[in-house]
Amino acid sequence: MTLRILVVGAGIAGLAAARGLRIAGFRPDVVEELPATTVPAAGIYLPGNATRALRRLGLDAPLRPLGDLIFRQVFQDAQGGPLFELDVAALWAGVGESRALSRAELQQVLLTGVGGEVRYDTAVRDLEIVDGAAKIEFGDGGMAEYDLVIGADGRRSTIRAKSGLGGAATPTGQIVYRSVVSGGPALSDWTALLGRRSTFVAMPMGGRRLYCYADETAPGAPNPADPMARVRELFGGFGSPVPAIVEAIEKVQVARTDEVVLDSWSRGPVLLVGDAAHATSPTLAQGAGMAFEDAVVLGEVLRATPDDVPAALRAYETRRRPRCQHVRERTVERDRTRDVPPALRDPMLRRRGQRIFGDHYRGLVPAL
Ligand SMILES: Cc1cc2nc3c(=O)[nH]c(=O)nc-3n(C[C@H](O)[C@H](O)[C@H](O)COP(=O)(O)OP(=O)(O)OC[C@H]3O[C@@H](n4cnc5c(N)ncnc54)[C@H](O)[C@@H]3O)c2cc1C
Repeated sequence: MTLRILVVGAGIAGLAAARGLRIAGFRPDVVEELPATTVPAAGIYLPGNATRALRRLGLDAPLRPLGDLIFRQVFQDAQGGPLFELDVAALWAGVGESRALSRAELQQVLLTGVGGEVRYDTAVRDLEIVDGAAKIEFGDGGMAEYDLVIGADGRRSTIRAKSGLGGAATPTGQIVYRSVVSGGPALSDWTALLGRRSTFVAMPMGGRRLYCYADETAPGAPNPADPMARVRELFGGFGSPVPAIVEAIEKVQVARTDEVVLDSWSRGPVLLVGDAAHATSPTLAQGAGMAFEDAVVLGEVLRATPDDVPAALRAYETRRRPRCQHVRERTVERDRTRDVPPALRDPMLRRRGQRIFGDHYRGLVPAL
């Protein structure tokens, strides 16, 4: 039997899921509510397990020329004094390289992997489960029926709500500021300066550009009216190289981050993947990696039991839960260190940061 599959959302998780399904021999429809002309801004950091999953999806060759390889993560205090370093090349040895690149480039790689058409300007408006199948209503009023619907529609997922799998995402209280900087100081390592409830991260992302990611914990506070001024205010007094980078920033993108925690990711013929199922704050930079791993496992379980979708979805969840839970728990743990005053936190990180932060990733080194 040929499964009729719909992937809802052509972000990182949806495109990866469509690729995983194609490799497994399926031909999913993919719909995306935004127009095809929407290009994601900012950069993205892919640790070794993310690039391993892309390799499993057969997308390592187009990824290879893009961005910059990251060999070390350097952690400093707010004045730029050394805290500790993670040798990420050693951490992920035999797994995959760590790479920073532009999101637009990553999207292109994923799009080439889908091989079929993405239907843009096409939102899913409603979903109803009838006799084990999913009846879908699109934004233009069109209807269709599928044997399997993959909800890859992000942290504010419509599919999650319509299938009764969960409600609204929970805000983490973080406000994040992202920029791609040309003409700033040269930087060879992923570098983070940790302040009090605020962090500034910069990394090379290819083309002599830096990807900068800065955040503050400000639960309930509105987004600042002038994000650039807020970035200067928060980070202008940090140690080198932050002031020179801040000086070179031309545009700041502001976002809030959310967490999604669900008891189950599937109901009948509906499965949630990516942020729709398990969004976290991006502290460990594992959102894309988890979405790629979701895609690899999805293809494998459906290929194993194509005639028994519920069994495949159960197998999927059994394999994916532990790793996603690991990411969530380590993310929450890492985010908690933000609330510890630097006078207490920094001496502890100098002594034990390398081991503690390394352990956050080591659980993801074993094969999927
Ligand atoms: C500030 C920030 C920094 C981050 N940095 C990193 C990083 O360095 N490394 C990393 O791995 N991860 C990072 N992440 C996390 C990563 O970006 C996400 O985990 C990832 O983008 C999730 O992809 P997704 O496809 O699940 O969701 P999304 O990217 O949200 O995509 C969902 C798609 O579904 C579409 N859609 C929504 N509703 C519908 C509908 N009803 N019908 C049709 N289409 C619909 C949307 O338009 C969208 O295109 C970061 C996240 C944030 C917020």
